[in-house]
Order: sequence, then structure tokens, then C-alpha cells
Amino acid sequence: EERHVIMDETAIRRALTRIAHEILEKNKGIDNCVFIGIRTRGIYLAHRIAERVLEIEGRPVQVGDLDITSYRDDRRAVLNRPIAKETASCLDIDGNPLLIQDKRVILFDDVLFTGRTIRAAMDALMDRGRPQLIQLAVLVDRGHRELPIRPDYVGKNVPTAKLEDIDVSLSEIDGADHVTIFQQ
Ligand code: 5GP
Ligand code: MG
Repeated sequence: EERHVIMDETAIRRALTRIAHEILEKNKGIDNCVFIGIRTRGIYLAHRIAERVLEIEGRPVQVGDLDITSYRDDRRAVLNRPIAKETASCLDIDGNPLLIQDKRVILFDDVLFTGRTIRAAMDALMDRGRPQLIQLAVLVDRGHRELPIRPDYVGKNVPTAKLEDIDVSLSEIDGADHVTIFQQ
């Protein structure tokens, strides 16, 4: 099996710092923004970028998570396109429902592929209120979109073959930071 490292720890750190700056620039600060990470790795990305925003801007940002229960993390299942069963909760770090009404909501995920997870996330969010706007930040955009969804903030664009897979390893759960590409 061939594996190639496409982002090492330094590259991930720089990309997240850049995205923090881009978020601040695009939103003219961080007031009225809430970060929502899509489980599992999107949550860690949202928290890391919130930490950088605090360092840069001296202001905290609320971070919540959204649990999209579906087939997305199973690569073979994605290719088989099963019907997704989607239940979602959107909670802050204390386990309370996160208020998104009139907020600038920024979604975070590790990899953007077909766009179906983000569509499900947006549906779940809009059942909970009317955000002022929704933006999307991803560590890796691997292409192959099947919906008209595009990210506002991208760590790295990685054109992939459909049978290639991206492995995102984050220190919080995987022990180390790196992104690799491999053939399934
Ligand atoms: P989509 O719904 O856009 O097809 O797929 C995105 C979701 O599936 C994300 O939550 C992401 O974690 C996962 N995903 C899709 N493709 C990959 C991939 O190549 N590698 C990893 N690690 N996750 C992927
Ligand atoms: Mg995922």
C-alpha cells in the first residue's frame, strides 16, 4: 500500500493559523460568530481555530458540535450510496443546545467530498433556528462534489481519484498530526 504525507504537523498548524486569520478578515472580527465542528475530527479543528482566534483577537468564540449520524465515515458505503439516517444534535461544550438564531455560523469538518454531510449539517442547523449566514471551513477539499456546496476556508485542496482515501490524523484522538493519501 502506497501512502503519501500531504500535510505534516507544521503544514497543519500553518493552515489552521491562516484559516483563523481568514475567518477574522471575512467576518470583520469574531463577534456574533459561533463555531460548529462536525464530529469527530471537525470538532477538534473548530477548537484549535477558536484557540488561535483567542490568541490573535483576544476574544473567545463559542464552539459547539454537530453529530451527523450517517454513512459518511465508511468509504465503501459512500461509494455504494446507501440511504442515510441522519440524527443530529447541536450542543455547546457544556451539553446545552447552542443558539444559532441570527448568528454567523462557521461549520468545520476534516474532509469535504460529495458535500452530502454538509448538506445534512445545514438541514439540521436550520431546523434549530435561522442563522444570519453559514460558512464552511475544511482541512482538506478532496473534490468530487455532488451538490452545489463550496468551502469558504480550505487547508489544502487535494485533487483525488475516487478510490483514493485521505487519512486525517489529529493528535487529540490519533496521537499525531498528519494528513496522508492512499489507495483503498
Ligand atoms: P461527503 O459527505 O462530503 O461525501 O464526505 C465528507 C464527510 O465524510 C466528512 O465528514 C469526512 O469526515 C468524511 N470523508 C469523506 N471522504 C473522506 C476521506 O477521504 N477521508 C476522510 N478521513 N474522511 C472522509
Ligand atoms: Mg467526518
